Amino acid sequence: MAKIQMKTPLVEMDGDEMTRIIWKQIKDILILPYVDLKTEYYDLGLEHRNETNDQVTVDSANATKKYGVAVKCATITPNAARMTEYNLKEMWKSPNGTIRAILDGTVFRTPIIVKGIPPYVRNWTKPISIARHAYGDIYKATEMKVAGGCKAELVVTDKDGNETRSLIHDFKTDGIIQGVHNIEKSIQGFARSCFNYALDTNMSLWFSSKDTISKTYDHRFKDIFAEIYENEYKSKFEEKGIEYFYTLIDDAVARVIRSEGGFIWACKNYDGDVMSDMVSTAYGSLAMMTSVLVSPDGVYEYEAAHGTVQRHYYNHLKGLPTSTNSVATIFAWTGALKKRGEMDGINELCEFADKLERACIDTIESGVMTKDLYLISTLENKTQVDTTGFLNAIASRL
Ligand code: NAP
Ligand code: MG
Repeated sequence: MAKIQMKTPLVEMDGDEMTRIIWKQIKDILILPYVDLKTEYYDLGLEHRNETNDQVTVDSANATKKYGVAVKCATITPNAARMTEYNLKEMWKSPNGTIRAILDGTVFRTPIIVKGIPPYVRNWTKPISIARHAYGDIYKATEMKVAGGCKAELVVTDKDGNETRSLIHDFKTDGIIQGVHNIEKSIQGFARSCFNYALDTNMSLWFSSKDTISKTYDHRFKDIFAEIYENEYKSKFEEKGIEYFYTLIDDAVARVIRSEGGFIWACKNYDGDVMSDMVSTAYGSLAMMTSVLVSPDGVYEYEAAHGTVQRHYYNHLKGLPTSTNSVATIFAWTGALKKRGEMDGINELCEFADKLERACIDTIESGVMTKDLYLISTLENKTQVDTTGFLNAIASRL
């Protein structure tokens, strides 16, 4: 069989620990036999990030801007323990944060649904994608403790030095204050990423905030979404038969729980942080959650939502058997290959990606799965396999 040819390389960002092990196996067992894989390779493994003073992360993000599609392996975000473990020169920042800042993108997380792993919310028969705005609000806040007898004000100084003041609170007793901000350009980018992703995936888009209470701040988010929708996306949405709809966060929460899924829920930074954990837990397994970063100008970076599965890696190093679920990482590859296929007009590549996804789902639905799923699957006949056994089972169906 002739291998499927590619035109433009994918940006390949390798990573750390157990996911680095499965990264290579996925390529060897599931992709390279069928695709004449073209990638521009960046090693984001912590050792190489340390050697290059993290320049490799910046380079990989810039390459993603150039080519349009990247696939990323999970990476370690260093903490104090990693400083010693890897003898680091510095506590390098989260690669995902660095890449996101360069691409100015929004992260969409979507569960992979299979028979036998029912979501905790029974009526969620279709996936719900969560989009979290990744700039500002309480994540870039200035906070202070305030002693009783103090007066706190918001002060804005314009470029000529004129001040506008607004009272926050006249403190009779001790208290606390918090100053948060956001930037129109960032909110606009967020909105465009969401509208583009909705068109891409043929799903309706919901956006929620607390505009009834936050009449200037949250209301500005609502207005920006509405303006961009009216001016740039309305007719495209109507053509596809999908809708954009805004609702108060309280109402959104109630509707989401009652829904059957099958839409994108765009959230402000804090809401997205909390709701994405709630939604991913409710779908059953972090190992079945994919993630894609979409920039406002249509650049895509695909990855799994889980981390490097450190505990399994240490077992692997000790020669103990592991049962690591590779589905989310495989779906990162298929997402990227499909997008590359769409952009370059290579139908076969899109079809291959679809078949590989189908093979993963069929394997699990036929009862062959890794331990994480074995523990929660409601199938009567099920078999637990190890990391490589699972990949081989997928390969035999593919
Ligand atoms: P994690 O790698 O997501 O793993 C946490 C636990 O979840 C694992 O110990 C395992 O549970 C289970 N799990 C996650 N993925 C699994 C899979 N594919 N198959 C089977 N079980 C899976 O989170 P972590 O241990 O907190 O973080 C490890 C490293 O990952 C950290 O250095 C962190 O910085 C990094 N991280 C990176 C990203 C990213 O690159 N996007 C995201 C999150 C974390 P059991 O041990 O019970 O089997
Ligand atoms: Mg969180």
